Amino acid sequence: MWGPPCGRVNQIGVTGVDLPGMIGQLFCRIWLRGYATSIHRERVWDLPWSAADPGRHAFEWDEDEAARLTALVVPMVPSEADWAADPGRMAGFRFMDEVTVLLVSRYGRWVCGWDFSVHFGGPVEAWCCDSHSVGEPTETAECVVTCLLEWRDWLEDIAERFEQLAPLPDMDAEDRSWHLERAVTRLVTAVVNSTHAEGGWHGLCETTLTWFLTSTGLGRDEAQKAVEAAIGGRFKSYVAPAPTLVDTVGEDLAIRLTGRGFYRER
Ligand SMILES: [Zn+2]
Repeated sequence: MWGPPCGRVNQIGVTGVDLPGMIGQLFCRIWLRGYATSIHRERVWDLPWSAADPGRHAFEWDEDEAARLTALVVPMVPSEADWAADPGRMAGFRFMDEVTVLLVSRYGRWVCGWDFSVHFGGPVEAWCCDSHSVGEPTETAECVVTCLLEWRDWLEDIAERFEQLAPLPDMDAEDRSWHLERAVTRLVTAVVNSTHAEGGWHGLCETTLTWFLTSTGLGRDEAQKAVEAAIGGRFKSYVAPAPTLVDTVGEDLAIRLTGRGFYRER
């Protein structure tokens, strides 16, 4: 059942509806289409690993840049007058989209997850939502900076895991299967830990697994289909998966991609 602590979600009328197998991200996609904006904003689940991979997108950061970015964001924060002139309460969303455009132009497409909050199944702890996180200008701008760094750290962490978990190119199908199964177990566990299995956490899980497979050379469509089929709707919003389920999903994915079973005793 949907029951996030964040008030904004309650306002749009999905509370109390059980949406098994559906993801918070899907819900966000539908919801966000509901307000008119001329800003095209890329979302995490649309981002290919080539655009998200921190190894391919350097990020120069120091105190000066933190101060410059904060100074750029402060005047973008909606004022009392902006909120008063906005009965639909969309000023917060507009701000978030405009900040995203600024961050993308400054650092690259990978930044688009800066506000992917834990409440919506993301890994960013410092952001809640438009209603709770957009307020006093300096505080809000500093929070944006914190979130950006949190998102970058998360990408760097999973990139490191991808490297450690990747099957070697010369491995036979059985070894490859074993590595893939192990990778799924580790990566799902990492996503559950980052998101606390809040919101539609399994959306980020699908994205992460798809990114991992593409990082090993699989095509994006093929990777996405294999991940979706292996999960098979068995990961649920707001529910941490049982270890046995994680193992089963890993096994299914490994068999699907290699045609071989894995060997748990190894
Ligand atoms: Zn909130």
